Amino acid sequence: EEKLLEVKNLKKYFDLGKGRLLKAVNDVTFHVNKGETFGLVGESGCGKSTIGRTIIGLYNKTEGDVLFNGNNVHALHEKDLMKLRQKMQMIFQDPYASLNPRSTVREVITEPMEVHKLYKSKKEQNERVYELLEEVGLNRDHANRYPHEFSGGQRQRIGIARALALNPDFIIADEPISALDVSVQAQVVNLLKELQEEKGLTFLFIAHDLSMVKQISDRIGVMYLGNMVELTVSNSLYSNPLHPYTQALLSAIPIPDPDIEESRERIILQGELPSPINPPSGCVFRTRCPFAMDICSKEKPDWQEVENNHFVACHLYNENVKKQHKPEPIVH
Ligand code: SF4
Ligand code: MG
Repeated sequence: EEKLLEVKNLKKYFDLGKGRLLKAVNDVTFHVNKGETFGLVGESGCGKSTIGRTIIGLYNKTEGDVLFNGNNVHALHEKDLMKLRQKMQMIFQDPYASLNPRSTVREVITEPMEVHKLYKSKKEQNERVYELLEEVGLNRDHANRYPHEFSGGQRQRIGIARALALNPDFIIADEPISALDVSVQAQVVNLLKELQEEKGLTFLFIAHDLSMVKQISDRIGVMYLGNMVELTVSNSLYSNPLHPYTQALLSAIPIPDPDIEESRERIILQGELPSPINPPSGCVFRTRCPFAMDICSKEKPDWQEVENNHFVACHLYNENVKKQHKPEPIVH
């Protein structure tokens, strides 16, 4: 497998003045293979969007590295970054907010083409617009209409057409379905999957819960308060979640079978999400973790591969800690 994107020990802090530092992303490491979909999951404010924006070069990093096709994104000069940006595109949560309401669909889609001077003639450019509209399940008659004339799902299709306009290799989809009805969510996910197969696209798919990411992701990383807490292939995450936070996220998804639903043990998270300006010492999850031990407030758990391709940051899986504490296995 070939790595398209590598995020290495990435830190992104925002200086809020008066010595206050917002640690939005705190030492996160993962990679995305060519042609796969990597799901990035966590509650709002956990740093997912900040990672997306830092990868694409919209934000400078504080520390660490972002490599795209082996190129260090944050070391590139303006011109090269511009070229690279062509290959990395974003889709946003609220397509209406990200589409200019005074622009026609045609203008929305051609804007990036014009910025990057992709086509020599208007005719060529227009042909491409029609092609893109058809690729996302709309048609050429939609080109002269305005985004507000469309439903949420259709607007997201316009957003996708715009993201495809520059023939990217990599798309960061930042909660692209969170604002849509459940029935429409599946349609958009299916469209993304089809486009991925046709074009060999690679996706970073950002979501705030685990309900839909399974349908699209090959591997999933779970984030909490700026930290990656668990990372593994999709199936393992759902069948064998190791981190207490992942277990809590999974137990929040309703199961349609009432027998299972009734007998299931739910993990309800206590308390509020702490502020990333003043995160807890040791393990960032400890203030809400039902299994927190003494060591959890003193030492930050290591990021360790506990099974093949299954990474977790939690003292429960540290051999030395296990000997002293004998934590009970967690039942689902
Ligand atoms: Fe809970 Fe401790 Fe594991 Fe953190 S390290 S998730 S507080 S058991
Ligand atoms: Mg966000």
